[in-house]
Amino acid sequence: MSRHPPPPPLSDVPLEPGLYVVATPIGNLRDITLRALDVLAGCDLLLAEDTRVTGKLLAAYGLSKTMLRYDEHAAERARPRIMAALAAGQSVALVSDAGTPLVSDPGYRLVKDVVAGGHRVFPIPGPSAALAALTLAGLPTDRFLFAGFAPTKSSARRTFFSEFAPVQATLIFYESGPRLRASLTDMAAVFGDREAAVARELTKLFETAVRGTLGQLAADPKLDSPKGEIVVLVGPGEEQASTPEDADAALADALTRLPPGEAASEVARALGLNRRDLYRRAMALKDTR
Ligand code: SAM
Repeated sequence: MSRHPPPPPLSDVPLEPGLYVVATPIGNLRDITLRALDVLAGCDLLLAEDTRVTGKLLAAYGLSKTMLRYDEHAAERARPRIMAALAAGQSVALVSDAGTPLVSDPGYRLVKDVVAGGHRVFPIPGPSAALAALTLAGLPTDRFLFAGFAPTKSSARRTFFSEFAPVQATLIFYESGPRLRASLTDMAAVFGDREAAVARELTKLFETAVRGTLGQLAADPKLDSPKGEIVVLVGPGEEQASTPEDADAALADALTRLPPGEAASEVARALGLNRRDLYRRAMALKDTR
C-alpha cells in the first residue's frame, strides 16, 4: 500500500482574491487540512519559505505549483509582486517550512501590508508546535504565553526570562537541542523550581515528552543536546509576595552578570518591585562584596 493514499477530491470552488495564510504539518505529513490542500492546489501564487520543503509536501499530495520564495531575505523584493497580484484580484497563499506562518516564521510584515492595501486575509488554521506542545505538557492551559526563541547568550537569556517571571500563565518557548541544557539551567535560576515540560519531535517518529520540575529537567541526562525540534513549557509560579530576602538573592544573582542599574530593572520586572528601591539596595550589596 502506498504510504500516502490519494487525497479526497479537491473543491472546485474558485478561491476569492486575497492572502491565504496556510498552516502545514510540523512533522507528520498527514496533519494537513482538506481546506489547506484546496488552497495550495487552487491559489494563483504560492509563497513558500523554502520551495524545496514545500515542493515535497505538494508532491506527497500529487500537487505541483510554481512557487515564489518568501523568507526574511527575499521578503522585501517579493512584496511588490505580491501586492500587484492581489491588486489584480488574484489569490495568494503563504506557507512556511512547518506549522503556522508568522509564528516564529516570516509573514507578519506582509499581512500588515496586505491589510493596509485593503485586501482580505484568510487564515487556514492547522498545526503549530506551540499549541501541540501545550496539549501534551500536562500544565495549566487556561492562560498561556508564547514567547518564541530566547536569546542565545546566557546573560541576555536570563534577562529575557526575567521579563516573563511575573506572568501568571504557562510560558511556551521554542528551543534548539544544543542549547536546551543551558536554557533549562537559566530557566531554573530565574523561574525557580516550577513544573515544566520538554516536548520533542512532535508528530514525528521519535516524539517524546519529559515532564518534571525545572531543576529535574536541567539535570536530566536525556535532555543533554537531544536531536530534533523542541518546545519548552514552564508552568505558572505560585502567586506570593516576595520577601526582602528573595529580592536580595535575586539582586545578588543579577549583579554577577549586570551593572546595578540593569540588575535593579531585571529584578523589578521579575518580582514586581519598585526599581528605585532595588537600585539603592543593589548599590549597598555591591559595596559589601
Ligand atoms: N511556525 C512554526 C509553528 O507554527 O510551530 C514554528 C517555526 S520555528 C522557525 C521552528 C521551531 O518550532 C523549532 O525550532 C522548534 O522549537 C519548534 N518546532 C517546530 N516543529 C516542531 C516539532 N515537530 N516538535 C517540536 N518542536 C517543533
